[in-house]
Amino acid sequence: MNDRPTSPSPASPFAMPMQEILHPEPALDPAALAQAEAPPATLLAVLAPEAPLRAVRALVERLRLSGLAVAVYELGSGVLVLKDARPSDLAAAEPGELVEHLITADTSWRLVRRDVVPAGSVVRIGPAAFGGRQFGVVAGPCAVESRAQILQSARLAAAAGVDLLRGGAFKPRTSPYSFQGLGMRGVELLDEARQLTGLPYVTEVLDPADVEPMYPHVDAFQVGARNMQNYALLKALADLDKPILLKRGPSATLEEWLLAAEYLLAGGNDRVILCERGVRGFGNDTRFTLDLATMSLARQATHLPVVVDPSHATGDPKLVIPMACAAMAAGADGVMVEFHPRPEQALSDGAQALVPGELEALMLRLGALAPAMGRTVGR
Ligand code: PEP
Ligand code: MN
Repeated sequence: MNDRPTSPSPASPFAMPMQEILHPEPALDPAALAQAEAPPATLLAVLAPEAPLRAVRALVERLRLSGLAVAVYELGSGVLVLKDARPSDLAAAEPGELVEHLITADTSWRLVRRDVVPAGSVVRIGPAAFGGRQFGVVAGPCAVESRAQILQSARLAAAAGVDLLRGGAFKPRTSPYSFQGLGMRGVELLDEARQLTGLPYVTEVLDPADVEPMYPHVDAFQVGARNMQNYALLKALADLDKPILLKRGPSATLEEWLLAAEYLLAGGNDRVILCERGVRGFGNDTRFTLDLATMSLARQATHLPVVVDPSHATGDPKLVIPMACAAMAAGADGVMVEFHPRPEQALSDGAQALVPGELEALMLRLGALAPAMGRTVGR
């Protein structure tokens, strides 16, 4: 039921202010129209899906010859970004079939805008898919601690029907005295876990210098909350053809989060998944405050898939299942949760880890809720 007030149809004379009825505006001549046109702005021309490449190339050439700066992005059905342009500049060069719609970039973020790929982007990591109908589940321990621990975790995750294994090899720890991760040795153990179970994995990269050695191994890179605005790291990852899970900084606004993603897309990597992981609130009843409202805003503002991490957001295993269900109900494209074969022995974040039985319970609960949300869960 929609009980919002609607404005009267513009066809109705009652919709017109009395002033306009008494003094109808004279028709403008074309010269006056051109003058009245909006000042030059950044325009995004979303190409028609069937636009032939040859014709698009010719269009770009015509636009450039007319003096416009044009950048071309292979995003969705293809996007041209025109700097300091007017719709009439494009109308003059475009035969009418190539551009599906034109967007005036009235937001600071551009390529991540929902209307650039209105149907939404699907990011695939091996057999896992984020966006679209599938609800992706990422699970694993906070950190890779030992061969036995990560192999057992991978087996349990695969048996529970999880889509993607997680586990930090390079750990961003608040204290320099805490376990810092196994580094590249941890990445090699994740490779072994993938070989054993067939599960692809995501793992965090902390330093631009680690991108190159990690690249041949990992299925997806995680940018942690602390690094959301590490622009050197974002630029290094923008160069890659591997997916990026971009966590929201605990004090980042929606705009800052989307602009961090924009760095990746502007640099050429559009395989980006956003992850809400809680923001700093005033209390310490939960570790952070899970901000599902901004998650939902993000899904409306961008075509990128958005997932939720209820483990770091709450810091409490008894809140992980309820908040994962809430995330699905609020429209998230997936969840990322921490679990550990023996949380009491974990070297990091053991207090928030699910035990294996709880991971199974999570999958069952999400599976039960999924049909109501038009989603599918698990492999
Ligand atoms: C993590 O997922 O391992 C992690 C460190 O989370 P965050 O960056 O959200 O704190
Ligand atoms: Mn953790």
